[in-house]
Amino acid sequence: MSIISNSLKRIKPSPTIAVTQKARELKAAGKNVIGLGAGEPDFDTPNNIKQAAIEAINKGDTKYTAVDGTPILKQAIVNKFKSENNLEYSIDEVTVGTGGKQVIYNTFMATLNKGDEVIIPAPYWVSYPDMVLLAGGKPKIVKCNENDGFKLTPKNLKKAITKKTKWLILNSPSNPTGASYTKEEIKSLSKILIRNKKIHILSDDIYEHITYDNFNFFTIAQISELKERTLTMNGVSKSYAMTGWRIGYAAGPKEIIKAIGKIQSQSTSNPSSVSQAAAVEALNGTQEFIETRAEAFKKRRDFVVESLNKIKGINCLKPNGAFYVFPSCKQLLNKKTKLKTDKEFVEKLLEHSNVAVVQGSAFGLEGYFRISYATSMENLKKALERISNFCKNLS
Ligand code: PLP
Repeated sequence: MSIISNSLKRIKPSPTIAVTQKARELKAAGKNVIGLGAGEPDFDTPNNIKQAAIEAINKGDTKYTAVDGTPILKQAIVNKFKSENNLEYSIDEVTVGTGGKQVIYNTFMATLNKGDEVIIPAPYWVSYPDMVLLAGGKPKIVKCNENDGFKLTPKNLKKAITKKTKWLILNSPSNPTGASYTKEEIKSLSKILIRNKKIHILSDDIYEHITYDNFNFFTIAQISELKERTLTMNGVSKSYAMTGWRIGYAAGPKEIIKAIGKIQSQSTSNPSSVSQAAAVEALNGTQEFIETRAEAFKKRRDFVVESLNKIKGINCLKPNGAFYVFPSCKQLLNKKTKLKTDKEFVEKLLEHSNVAVVQGSAFGLEGYFRISYATSMENLKKALERISNFCKNLS
């Protein structure tokens, strides 16, 4: 009998972390690999945030804090929701965790019973289905077409709802496609959700600040009838280039917030005290660099999308947010190229051209691959040239 639990056997390690690790290993072995697999900004954490952390250490903020976040950080989060999203929360409707990832994990651990269904629009962030499975729930994957901009339509949402549906996950801007839901799109999904009173909504807003072309970010808790059933998750990792600091947060129904705290109290206790102090500065301090960095990302997005669409056999939508694109490689999967799947496509691309990307099937939609353009323009130029040559040599 295996020592490993049955629940752990239900899940797999994160495929995006696996690709990043493989690229790291190849680089260490002397190969000139360009990694376009990682989901983190290449920018450094802004200086004012680093200084706040240094001050916190010097002041002795190095002890346990309240399990689900310091009051000062929670207040900064309350203020953020009010000023940026026009959402009113009290401090006891807010929780802070070790990254958005822990907040989502705790949410499912705290709320799912065996057989409860969670609607997950695909392509999805790789961790959602596995977290649901680990918590004993059932992921209900709804494939979203390229023709619909990879977004969930009201019709598809309606079809996916059953008596067992407990949660719907919405992630906008999205990892892996960059697709971002407009206010009108969210409103039309809301009509169905307002009628289905038992469903809760987990809104993953982690890429809120990385949007382009004057996109107006809108989050589903702003629909007043749904606020009391929505848990809005966000964090500092992507917006403030703080992936290593591990601070994420959520606001929503007190009952769920309390349950998340209970799990945290028996697992990790509080998120790092020093990181919490840094997150206070991130939220309360200057927001100037958010715009300049979004500008830099936009230039990269435009370059990547344009270059990809010049390649015969590749098609790529131009998304409004995040730092990913999700091009189709379907036309290159045929007898002539001897490639059958997107996984084979990305494996050969890494093997022959030293560019690491992640296959679409890892995100629940086959025939695509994800490029993260959170790397220098220089790297992107080299990588796109390699991808172009690779595809030319295939056909
Ligand atoms: N949600 C999405 C869609 C993500 O892409 C990520 C990170 O890759 C997270 C949540 C978790 O972010 P973190 O745990 O770094 O705060």
